[in-house]
Amino acid sequence: MKEVVAQLKTISPVWTAGLDRANNSPREVGLVGSLRWWYEVLVRGLCGYACDPTDADRCSFDDDGYRRGGLEGGLRTVCPACQMFGCGGWSSKFRLLVTDDKGQPKLSLDNKGVTFQLHFLPTKAWLPTEQWLLGQVLILIDHYGALGGRTTLKPPKMPDYGQVQLLKNVPYPKLTRREVETWLAGITKGSENISRRQSTQAPQIPRLGYFFFNTEQWLDTKQMNQVVQADRTGFMAGRRGVSKKIFSSQPAKRFLGYTTDQRMLSSVLKTLEQMGISNVKTGQEVLNAL
Ligand SMILES: [Zn+2]
Repeated sequence: MKEVVAQLKTISPVWTAGLDRANNSPREVGLVGSLRWWYEVLVRGLCGYACDPTDADRCSFDDDGYRRGGLEGGLRTVCPACQMFGCGGWSSKFRLLVTDDKGQPKLSLDNKGVTFQLHFLPTKAWLPTEQWLLGQVLILIDHYGALGGRTTLKPPKMPDYGQVQLLKNVPYPKLTRREVETWLAGITKGSENISRRQSTQAPQIPRLGYFFFNTEQWLDTKQMNQVVQADRTGFMAGRRGVSKKIFSSQPAKRFLGYTTDQRMLSSVLKTLEQMGISNVKTGQEVLNAL
């Protein structure tokens, strides 16, 4: 399988060193982390199962299953996100390489207006559905989200991070949302382990259907606080060490956030309306358009 390449341009600096610049982790690690986050959000939005890789209940390759039933048996306990991005006992299906627009790996994403390429170097064969999901993830990041770490720190404390423009997406097959949903449902149905974990997954886990997006304006701290107060449970407000569930970018003029269920989402939408903010799109609307 040949490499697939996406071309992007920074609108604001992209934070690429994960949480700690001193740990010398390669910048690709941070980018893969944020691609994975959106991949998981999308898979869950399409009613598939994606584990929380930071949770004790995360996936690992089933060695016994492998001995009994080969690769298919080993992967029966591995969610679609881990199948693509790797988990204990199973390596990622690709290696990511970041270069400038000429293919040179020496570049900095610390400024705006930098054109760069994400090279996905397959290490295992991809399914058409996986390539489709990756293409959709890059579109989501371009239209609504952000890439890399530190995307929650707001001015004036820190510069705004992670806003990127997708100049050229990876190629992906023309599949319908229904086809991908059917594939995801098949993975859940075909595995008792995944069915069980999906049915007990916490509502706090981000699912695209319960997101909200606006691509015409940004929110200041006061406005963001007003929005999170629409949620009486305190989930959206976060707490020490747990970030707010609303993010806004001044340079890209956008904000997004997520809720745990339809009820919380409705009260957020109502609050935004009362604040005079219109043109808010829900995650479900984004999913319906796929
Ligand atoms: Zn998983």
